[in-house]
Amino acid sequence: MIPYAFDYTRPESVEEALDLLDDDAKLLAGGHSLVPALKLRLSAPGRLIDIARIPSLKGIREENGEIVIGAGTTHAEIMKSDLLKQHLPMFAEGAALIGDPMVRHKGTIGGSLAHADPSADWPAMVIAADGEVVLRGRNGSRSVAAADFFIGFYSTALEEGEIITEIRLPVPAEGTRMNYQKFAQPASRFAIVGCAVVRHPDGSVRVAFTGVSDAPFRDTGVEEALSGQQLTDDVIEAAAAKAAEGVSLNSDHFASEEYRQHLARVYCKRALNAVA
Ligand SMILES: Cc1cc2nc3c(=O)[nH]c(=O)nc-3n(C[C@H](O)[C@H](O)[C@H](O)COP(=O)(O)OP(=O)(O)OC[C@H]3O[C@@H](n4cnc5c(N)ncnc54)[C@H](O)[C@@H]3O)c2cc1C
Repeated sequence: MIPYAFDYTRPESVEEALDLLDDDAKLLAGGHSLVPALKLRLSAPGRLIDIARIPSLKGIREENGEIVIGAGTTHAEIMKSDLLKQHLPMFAEGAALIGDPMVRHKGTIGGSLAHADPSADWPAMVIAADGEVVLRGRNGSRSVAAADFFIGFYSTALEEGEIITEIRLPVPAEGTRMNYQKFAQPASRFAIVGCAVVRHPDGSVRVAFTGVSDAPFRDTGVEEALSGQQLTDDVIEAAAAKAAEGVSLNSDHFASEEYRQHLARVYCKRALNAVA
């Protein structure tokens, strides 16, 4: 289908983009979620503000004990980043599992977090790595913990007139291990179930899921089952059996609630085995 007509602007800076961002406008990053929505006429903004080439939204750097990923950084750039391979290898490996080369070279991490597709990969990894999403509006910036950013089906803490500028991730201590496992939809590669696990040298483990429910979530039930334990086969088995317990499970033509629960346990066990 053909979208409704819209104006198109390409600002040079975040400040300029914020000035243009009114009720009738939508930000355009990689376009790999927005353009399909425009074509299906699920979204009909009067103006697109193309932020894909704003320099300050691009790139990956280390700063004050954190890895900072610009919101406009593409999945492919994350996949190739030596800094991420060194400190947060799950991100480089996870990026390689997203979509196909076209999606990875156009789609951005900021666009993915803002869109909050319940099957998107980044949310689970950013929550498990204890990331923060930095949002900028006309009155300044604020930071939201990734675990609080996703509030429901395609719904986030992003408010009208705000832009995600960057994602900040603590540089993990030496010896931290991390892994992301997903059961991918065979055509799109979206996660029917995705599980990210970060195991810190003090033995604490953070576990997060995507695809399972209407929003990604940190699974404290699994984390508590692992607390103070060595990751033996029995401990992993018992903890993974608690995956997505008490969560309202998605059900669609790809996977029923029961199957998703089963997949959550299987993929949690795989991710835990990988960091054990
Ligand atoms: C065929 C196909 C396969 C895919 N497979 C996967 C997959 O396996 N895993 C996966 O996770 N994703 C997958 N995706 C989605 C892909 O990763 C998208 O790129 C991503 O969801 C959106 O990023 P984008 O940069 O394209 O955003 P856009 O489509 O440009 O924007 C999406 C939404 O976010 C808003 N937005 C964009 N940037 C910002 C910002 N900085 N601040 C605030 N709001 C912003 C836009 O206004 C819009 O509402 C797939 C997409 C396609 C088309």
